[in-house]
Amino acid sequence: MSGHDGYGESTYEVAAPARGQAFARTWWGRGWVAALEDGVLDGAQIRAGRRLARGGAVGAVSVRPGRATAVVRDRDGTAHRADVLLPELSAAQWDRLLALAVERAGYVAALLDREMPPHLVEDAATAGVDLLPGLGELEASCDCGAWDHCGHTTALCYLVARLLDEDPFVLLLLRGRPERPLLDDLQARTAAPVPTRPEGVDAADAYASVPASLPAPPDLPDGPGAPPSLDAETAPPEGVVPAALEFLAAQTAREAHRLLRDALYRTPQDAELTLSQDVVRLAAADPSDPGVRARLVEGRADLGLAVRAWREGGVAALSVLDEEWTPDGDTSARARAALEAAWDADERPALRARANRWTVVGDPAQIRLDRDGRWWPYRRQNGRWTPAGGPALDPATALAAAVRSEEEGPG
Ligand SMILES: [Zn+2]
Repeated sequence: MSGHDGYGESTYEVAAPARGQAFARTWWGRGWVAALEDGVLDGAQIRAGRRLARGGAVGAVSVRPGRATAVVRDRDGTAHRADVLLPELSAAQWDRLLALAVERAGYVAALLDREMPPHLVEDAATAGVDLLPGLGELEASCDCGAWDHCGHTTALCYLVARLLDEDPFVLLLLRGRPERPLLDDLQARTAAPVPTRPEGVDAADAYASVPASLPAPPDLPDGPGAPPSLDAETAPPEGVVPAALEFLAAQTAREAHRLLRDALYRTPQDAELTLSQDVVRLAAADPSDPGVRARLVEGRADLGLAVRAWREGGVAALSVLDEEWTPDGDTSARARAALEAAWDADERPALRARANRWTVVGDPAQIRLDRDGRWWPYRRQNGRWTPAGGPALDPATALAAAVRSEEEGPG
């Protein structure tokens, strides 16, 4: 979608909505769609318009005061010029609207943030200025010869709704005033300068504009992808090292991918804690109040052990303490391979496996495998298997930690 220049006519490439997605998600975009659907008596034209709009039949949409225009192609390729007409506001109506807009600082800020403040629209309607089209106000003109709305003009209207979603200034342009002169006029009417960046929106307006359902998150690509190659025939300017730029681009893409993955798929550590986990988390913070401590002790029987685990690695460490699980065939094979690779055959300690726990024969040391393939050291103390350190990908490292903690003595 292209931006507009703020003057006169603006042209936009508008993408058809994704499958299953509505044409409009904002309240004002939906208001536009409702005006269309309530005003067009022939349901067949509405359905034809939706089909054309979803099928990508509508070309670039030009918007200027009083009119939106696009070329719409039939399935057989025949092109039609479709126009949708909306009455412009009179000079007196603009005057009233702008007076209302500067009354509350939040209105202009919201507009600049591409949000249409609902109270502004209500106040304007009360003052006799309707921004959204009323019943029958959206007129149509098409060179297919239809006397009223046809599939071409309704298709155009659906895409205009998408435009309005993105930028309510498009509605103001249709009503007669381009963005730039409009902002200049607002500026002239306010003592304070019109902010060029939004400074905040009235909470009620912000709440009213929250869509009923949030769009689904985008699909995460498998990886960050390859950065563009900077290997060109032209020599780089002095001081520019293409290989260094490629490296930086690749690192940046990797980091962006990681951030996106973390944002879309919360890791178990971020997931909501169970009551028992939360008790451990709070106890690990060492509350000084004896009453609080007493309440926490009631919350979990082996709190001391659990707190030790928590300090080694939060929820992941806690599940290693609590859960005994049986690795599947592949995981077991990988675990055995890791164990065998970790020591020379003659140095390898004798380990006895049960579920995900490998215990050293004749020594109270144990390593536990977690579901992410990491090994956690454990040591038997006072008759209990006790966490003895953080996780390691290498089983030998984890076992060394378990053995070392014996040398340091129980604690
Ligand atoms: Zn037509």
